[in-house]
Amino acid sequence: MSLYDNIRRVTPYIPGEQPAGKVVKLNTNECPYAPSPRVAEAIAACDADRLRLYPEPDCLSLKKVIAAHYEVKPSEVFIGVGSDDVLALAFLTFFAGQKPVLFPDVTYSFYDVWAKLYAIPYETVPLAADFTLRPEDYAHTNGGIIFANPNAPTGLALPLTGVEEILAKNPESVVIVDEAYVDFGAETALPLLQDYENLVVVRTMSKSRALAGMRIGYAFASTRLIRAMEDVKASINSYTMTTLSLAAGKAAIEDEAYFRETLAKIIKTREETKAALQKLGFFVTESKTNFLFARKPDISAQNLFEGLRERGVYVRYFKKPRIDEHLRITIGTDEEMTRLLEELKCLCIKLR
Ligand code: PMP
Repeated sequence: MSLYDNIRRVTPYIPGEQPAGKVVKLNTNECPYAPSPRVAEAIAACDADRLRLYPEPDCLSLKKVIAAHYEVKPSEVFIGVGSDDVLALAFLTFFAGQKPVLFPDVTYSFYDVWAKLYAIPYETVPLAADFTLRPEDYAHTNGGIIFANPNAPTGLALPLTGVEEILAKNPESVVIVDEAYVDFGAETALPLLQDYENLVVVRTMSKSRALAGMRIGYAFASTRLIRAMEDVKASINSYTMTTLSLAAGKAAIEDEAYFRETLAKIIKTREETKAALQKLGFFVTESKTNFLFARKPDISAQNLFEGLRERGVYVRYFKKPRIDEHLRITIGTDEEMTRLLEELKCLCIKLR
């Protein structure tokens, strides 16, 4: 018996690098544009004296703003420290049974980390060869279901009919739809909340609202499911959201015009970059996100990834079954994408 026998050992999720210095950073799906100017104003207006006090434990002021925006009740909203926090708490709250939780074999690589941490039994369900999710594969016994829509890192979206099919076939399981990237062009499951009490929709302000550094995530579900999440949260840490993040979150939601403008720019750049990559001989999936998932059949993705990195362009590469010939490239500014394409052009000649 040693000291170390009683220590929990886990294999953590490894996020994309945050390199110091000036690089073209296309590796963690951040927004290339600043958050709404109203966010800066809201932060500047925060009185430092207020920081003596604990923040609101129930985040009600931000819940009210989110609820009004999405036309739900504040009691149907949960708020956490980025959607990673919301998802981790959702795993802990909703996947407490003995049956395996289902999620796709190719998806956000945090899901199996949480399942292992909490000792939740799980089963991965293979996506089709073209990486699409087949709703009919989620009809067998399970203790819950989670999938990202659009999916990461494939970028592909499941139509709402497919989401509904999964909900309808699993009335006894909580179905979590991780909509981190939904604003970039996929259909949201929010309209299904009225009809399906087993639905939990998770969102983030890290991507489409340019607030990755503020750490704000949220979820929508029935009042009863949200209360269950609140109880679990309050059993760990009552005060998760800072006074500053609550103020920033409210301002970001309230500036709809800026939000729409930012999305339009990113989507335009995405489609232009996709066409340019195809011209270079890449196969690119039909992304409904702020990243592209691309492969060049005649060149190793790992070599491209390393070559780009040496040239100061950071993209994401996953050395994992089924996707180790792909690169995941975040949509940056037009200038950043031009630089990426120039470097790729050189590398494609060098590595062929
Ligand atoms: N879900 C998916 C599918 C993601 O790709 C990410 C970003 N890594 C998250 C959730 C978490 O994002 P955040 O914690 O910044 O909200």
